[in-house]
Amino acid sequence: MNYYSTQISKLIEELGRLPGVGAKSAQRLAFHIINMPKDQVEHLASTMLEARSNVKYCKICQTLTDKEVCPICSSDKRDQKVIMVVENTRDLAAYEKTGKFDGVYHVLHGAISPMLGIGPQDIKLKELMLRLQGDVDEVIIATNSSLEGEATAMYISKLIKPAGIKVSRIASGVPVGGDLEYIDEVTLLRALDGRIQL
Ligand code: ZN
Repeated sequence: MNYYSTQISKLIEELGRLPGVGAKSAQRLAFHIINMPKDQVEHLASTMLEARSNVKYCKICQTLTDKEVCPICSSDKRDQKVIMVVENTRDLAAYEKTGKFDGVYHVLHGAISPMLGIGPQDIKLKELMLRLQGDVDEVIIATNSSLEGEATAMYISKLIKPAGIKVSRIASGVPVGGDLEYIDEVTLLRALDGRIQL
């Protein structure tokens, strides 16, 4: 049954497609947007469009950025020889918030999952291997401690080890199955400090 005008229903439907937005939230957001001043709605829409068109992958670490090379990769204050491998840009942000890691990152944009049909070629692994041909001292694997994250960590360490580069895995403190982005800073730092060489 269509309680609302077609326009409102369409808006609710579109918002409901977003991750984490259930039917009730979609309704609430739709009515909020309809009641917003028109210029604010225009600003919101254009910000979304601009972000979508201008954000791309950093040429070096593959994180999302609006520059060719992201601010972390282009900073001379960061140790470019220590690379922390994370699954996504949100995990990078979680470690960045601690302010204690002065190396650089590599963002895979996913994890290997045979169940979902995601193989090594579907994540940014080729790009990591290319970087390792340069001058690298250590690769810290900070994928999530889920099944997929662990499988990815194992795969990467096997791939890198023959190159003679030190490979480590962040340690205890990160709960099994836990997403890095939801973990507090103290736990993240403890996991980094206690990393185990693979
Ligand atoms: Zn970068």
